[in-house]
Amino acid sequence: MTNDMHLGIDEADSYHSYGVSSESVVGCEQEFHNLLNVRHPYGVSPSPVGTQDIKQADSSPAFTNEGPIIIAGPCSVESEDQILATAQALSKIPEVTMLRGGIWKPRTRPDAFEGRGEQGLVWLREAKQETGLPIITEVATPEHVELALKYDVDALWIGARTVVNPFSVQQLADALRGVDIPMFIKNPVSPDLNLWVGAFERFQKAGLTQLAAIHRGFAYYKESPYRNFPMWEIPIELTQRLNVPLITDVSHICGNRELLQATAQKALDLATDGLMIECHIHPEEALTDAKQQITPEALKQLLANLTFRSKQSGNVERDLAGLRGEIDDIDSELLQLLARRMEVSAQIGEYKKRNNVTVVQMDRWKKILADHVATGIDLGLPDSLIVEVFEAIHQASIERQSCIMEGDNE
Ligand code: PEP
Ligand code: MN
Repeated sequence: MTNDMHLGIDEADSYHSYGVSSESVVGCEQEFHNLLNVRHPYGVSPSPVGTQDIKQADSSPAFTNEGPIIIAGPCSVESEDQILATAQALSKIPEVTMLRGGIWKPRTRPDAFEGRGEQGLVWLREAKQETGLPIITEVATPEHVELALKYDVDALWIGARTVVNPFSVQQLADALRGVDIPMFIKNPVSPDLNLWVGAFERFQKAGLTQLAAIHRGFAYYKESPYRNFPMWEIPIELTQRLNVPLITDVSHICGNRELLQATAQKALDLATDGLMIECHIHPEEALTDAKQQITPEALKQLLANLTFRSKQSGNVERDLAGLRGEIDDIDSELLQLLARRMEVSAQIGEYKKRNNVTVVQMDRWKKILADHVATGIDLGLPDSLIVEVFEAIHQASIERQSCIMEGDNE
């Protein structure tokens, strides 16, 4: 067993190599180029990620042309009908470059649907044969790798819960030694850039040259509109340290359908190389991640509404994009905090009303403001900014509490 309690996946003690010859390794590499070229309307051509590239901060981007890779498909392969119908519909959307489908699902709690396993691979391969879409699935153990290769899976991804565990990552890298299949590495659940980089290094050392990153957001302890907080600056920094394509998994960042459009646009604006979006022929009936999956029709709409800007080149733009992303995250946090502060203030208003206390207590307010100004100065902030910001916040609180006092609600 792994030592990650949340993983809930059995680990293998050993792995028997699948026996891929050196010719087929070369073939695989060729296939990666075809994989991302053939179905790409913009002619994206990823260059292989070489040994030095992974260490070079300032080498050219892995994708030489414009246009994103779109990986779409269900969170989980559930039935033959479900995956075939979804794949058929997706294959009619020209922007879709790859079909995803989860076969082994890492679930937080036992007894949840854990994927169809090998039977799911039979259906996924059938979907590939019927539509011509290349297929990609998640692997977490050497047995998964062995089975995925057996069923002609074209590319693999490593999930966020697996990347947190270097033992698991190393086992997967060992299992893939000599098999240069395209490998997409999701960020670990925790915002730990070095852990993410370490996973790339393990696969690189095992000889894999076609590596790409998937940003799926990070676990976050504060309230947030996202399922996983994006922290855009982390994937941007990864691409500055490693010359690898970056795909944004907007579905697992958002956790709901409503935020997908704006988040996908933001990812493109920050110069992502592609998107992963979960699609299901009947999203509301999905056995996993029902709230965030969309129909192929909705995906078509979403893609049509996106503005694909010409890809910014050079590190200056990427640096700036990372910093802008950080500002956006901070603003989003500020807004959440303001909303929480207002909520607490309203609770105080209710309390004051019940106990006949006046709304404004001037002495307390003066002391609070003086304390904030002092703290702000320590932090290098101008006192005028502190006074203006807190006066405005205080004023809004008084207005909210006055409304409560005047209203006849309890
Ligand atoms: C998934 O892609 O369905 C998945 C489980 O993702 P993550 O590892 O990002 O949670
Ligand atoms: Mn999912």
